[in-house]
Amino acid sequence: MTRYLISYNEELIAYEVRPARKRRAALGLYVYPDGRVHVTAPPRADLKKIQEHVQANAAWISKQLKKFMRDTAQKIQPGYNSGALQLYLGKGYPLKFEPSLELFNSIEIRQDAFVLQFSNITMSRDAKKVSEMLDEWYCQQADEIFSARLKHCVEALPWVDAMPVWRHSPMKSQWGSCSASGVIALNTHLVKCSVACIDSVIVHEFCHYKHRNHGKRFYALLEKHVPDWRALKKELNDLTSRVLAV
Ligand SMILES: [Zn+2]
Repeated sequence: MTRYLISYNEELIAYEVRPARKRRAALGLYVYPDGRVHVTAPPRADLKKIQEHVQANAAWISKQLKKFMRDTAQKIQPGYNSGALQLYLGKGYPLKFEPSLELFNSIEIRQDAFVLQFSNITMSRDAKKVSEMLDEWYCQQADEIFSARLKHCVEALPWVDAMPVWRHSPMKSQWGSCSASGVIALNTHLVKCSVACIDSVIVHEFCHYKHRNHGKRFYALLEKHVPDWRALKKELNDLTSRVLAV
């Protein structure tokens, strides 16, 4: 099944072309409550004609889609509306929803927006679906970014000579921790904070390799490697309510 896109006003509309049952059938246009748009066309119909047909009916399609989106709207949480800001590496990006040319959903940061592409645009009204997609994406970013930042810190800190055993998971109350055996756990949500904040948490945990407690010597060591740790801690504290309370 091939999918095509047309733009109408600021909106993108995805549609699929399906063969009509009758060989001489006129072009048919269907908008389904789940957001699919189908054009039925005779086997060798001219694609340009099909596009023109869809374009000519774009206002009607858009109206139908909006109606179905209203009908199927689940409880929308303010954080997952179109335009709601989502944080990534310390910067806020407004959510933008688009139909996808593919049959799967995807996410990318593009032109200062968090663009979520849906195989079925009505899913964008499902806050649970949107939050699941975002969580999965954040998790993938965390894998890559934390690995790179840990590597960077290992190279910078003379008392750490190898990559530690580490993991990340969404935590409610802390940004990171270090076990007695030196396993470093990072909060997946940390990927929403600036790189400087991520590094400060990582260096904090590595400082526990030398000093288990938060004593004077611990802070002296932290300050030596992260001179602005106080400002970064404040930045993290300010984010705690926004990021960890979700
Ligand atoms: Zn600590």
